[in-house]
Amino acid sequence: MHINDAVFLEDLCPKFRLRQWRKSIHRFTGKSCIYCGKPSESIDHVLPRSQGGLSTTENCVPACLSCNGDKSDENALYWYRKQKFYDPRRAMAIRAWLEGDLRLAIRLLQWANPNFKLNQNYEKDKSEYKAA
Ligand SMILES: [Zn+2]
Repeated sequence: MHINDAVFLEDLCPKFRLRQWRKSIHRFTGKSCIYCGKPSESIDHVLPRSQGGLSTTENCVPACLSCNGDKSDENALYWYRKQKFYDPRRAMAIRAWLEGDLRLAIRLLQWANPNFKLNQNYEKDKSEYKAA
């Protein structure tokens, strides 16, 4: 491959993949904040980027702007324990998410929130994630 082509592909693909990936993160929780259940408007790095946290699915959770901003650079689980909306089932879900067990995380979130609608496209999303 010509070196210029390689640079071009590097420029083009990450943007597209990033958008798809962000969408799939939100879809996992039915577009709700993993911490409080409100609509997720952002993606939170559980281990902050300033502390070496990576932009991987295991480290990135859907969060509302309020939680994302309030948590800032604090340890997510430690911060979450202090919140009024703390729910141990959600804390377990966050742990499962961090361990890469999205299926368990989603089950726990469903348990924490009876209104939570399990994403019918979950299997499809999972394969998209694997492909990405
Ligand atoms: Zn929230």
